Amino acid sequence: MPGSSRLAISLPQLSSLRRARPALSRKQQLLYAIDALKHILLLLFVLRYTRKALLQLRGYGVVGTIKGGYKSIYRNIYALFLRLPFVNARVRADVDKAILELETKLVPSGPGVTSYTTLPPTGWSADQVRSELSRLGSMKHTRWEDGRVSGAVYHGGDELSTLQAEAFKQFGVSNPIHPDVFPGVRKMEAEIVAMSLSLFHAPAGDEGGAGVTTSGGTESILMAILAARQKAYHERSVREPEMILPETAHTAFRKAGEYFGIKVHLIDCPASNNYRVHIPSIRRLINSNTILLVGSAPNFPHGIVDDITALSRLAVKYALPLHVDCCLGSFVIPFLAKAGFPTPDFDFRVPGVTSISVDTHKYGFAPKGNSVVLYRSKALRRYQYYVCPDWSGGVYASPSMAGSRPGALIAGCWASLMKMGEDGYLDTCLKIVGARQKIEDAVRGNDSLRRSLVVIGKPLVSVVAFKANEKASQEYRVDIYDVADAMSQRGWHLNALQDPPAMHVAVTLPIVAAVDDMIRDLEAVVEQCRGNASETKGDAAALYGVAGALPDKRIVRELAGGFLDTLYKTS
Ligand SMILES: *Cc1c(COP(=O)(O)O)cnc(C)c1O
Repeated sequence: MPGSSRLAISLPQLSSLRRARPALSRKQQLLYAIDALKHILLLLFVLRYTRKALLQLRGYGVVGTIKGGYKSIYRNIYALFLRLPFVNARVRADVDKAILELETKLVPSGPGVTSYTTLPPTGWSADQVRSELSRLGSMKHTRWEDGRVSGAVYHGGDELSTLQAEAFKQFGVSNPIHPDVFPGVRKMEAEIVAMSLSLFHAPAGDEGGAGVTTSGGTESILMAILAARQKAYHERSVREPEMILPETAHTAFRKAGEYFGIKVHLIDCPASNNYRVHIPSIRRLINSNTILLVGSAPNFPHGIVDDITALSRLAVKYALPLHVDCCLGSFVIPFLAKAGFPTPDFDFRVPGVTSISVDTHKYGFAPKGNSVVLYRSKALRRYQYYVCPDWSGGVYASPSMAGSRPGALIAGCWASLMKMGEDGYLDTCLKIVGARQKIEDAVRGNDSLRRSLVVIGKPLVSVVAFKANEKASQEYRVDIYDVADAMSQRGWHLNALQDPPAMHVAVTLPIVAAVDDMIRDLEAVVEQCRGNASETKGDAAALYGVAGALPDKRIVRELAGGFLDTLYKTS
């Protein structure tokens, strides 16, 4: 055993040492080399962690790092506390109870409800299916049709819906994965991308703007992030990618972080910066592992547009991609200027912007399941493609997550864009932004609202968020979640937000018609919630009241997981 020969040398063998010397010294050299290697590895290890520690210090500062460490310790201790048997049992019982309540709300049961959990032995008649479908369509629900739901239903009117249904019918079997079989679908998809590129001022020409259609905003964002990660990997060998997000950026970015193994840095959007992302904090976090900067135009929680010009300056300076999330802004934000509203800079005219996600299924009024992701160059789009050259099933290439895709949805999207046209979108922009302004003006100006509520930042597009006025005298003080719950009781489905506690309205076309009713109800509700935080908590107050106070979000995760399970319950 050569490795142990040094130990095996005993005194009587010493005389032979001289003769053995050349061989031994080679062994010794090897041992020295291994030793040196060990030291180098240790040094690299130390350097690596020193570098990480320094980057952390530079990125978050001494105070931020200590705060982060303290939070993490606090969270871990709390998590341990939750695991104590008696605490755990109590938490389990509470979570189970809450999930059961959810089930009774969401899953209909009892007499008169039939659930189908196996195939009918003989197929139904078409009429039977039709009548069951209309029953399903008319189940008791929150009335989006009367403009009672914030966001969610981006309805473009009955005529457009009928047209979309016709498009579905005609292209029901089509699948763009077979462009030779469905040439019309290929053509429509290319045109949807081209129209969107033009609307967002992508550079023209062969090496200019490019894009693909996807199944929704989340997929568009996932794809833009994947492209940025692959670019950094292939061009700069980045193996531990990091991206820097405004904390208000859509959750799809955090999802991408989990899916694609990218470290996520969340940046404050402080009130002092009008709830836009804090640029100096981003600069401090940029390092050689950074693959992407992100801004929203606007963000979902507060409807605020980040300072895209300032983000662009950073992106250009550090040669980094910059994604602008226009999923929500979609086909409203490009029409702000023409409609005479103040407009921020947000599109490819800002030099550092390299990709933009645009939800045609929001204010493009296309059927759900439609979005586009746009790139400044074809080269960047290449990085999101998937190609398998050696599959036994044949060479395989697909542009995005899905393999087969619904051509019917592409046809529905194309039909919507063509039917709406520039004048159609200009008109909806006027209505939607006008209604948002009206709600905002009411909250800011109306005597009964302005004492109790405060608008968050300066919204420019379709969303307006407000929170409780913390400076209000006792008499006018409200708990914003009580306001949200009281609005729910009046049939309004508005969005509750957290950090800070707030709520928002994302104006859609159905809401435009109901906006006066909404303001009236909001006044009544604020009046009713004043001064006394209600004793019995509604859903929003209960969930966010608890969630906000928890250092470790395990219980919220449990509840949310239970909620998702509930979606697949048949009875
Ligand atoms: C809606 C939205 C998205 C994407 O959501 P999907 O539900 O996947 O379409 C992304 N960003 C913002 C700001 C959004 O409002």
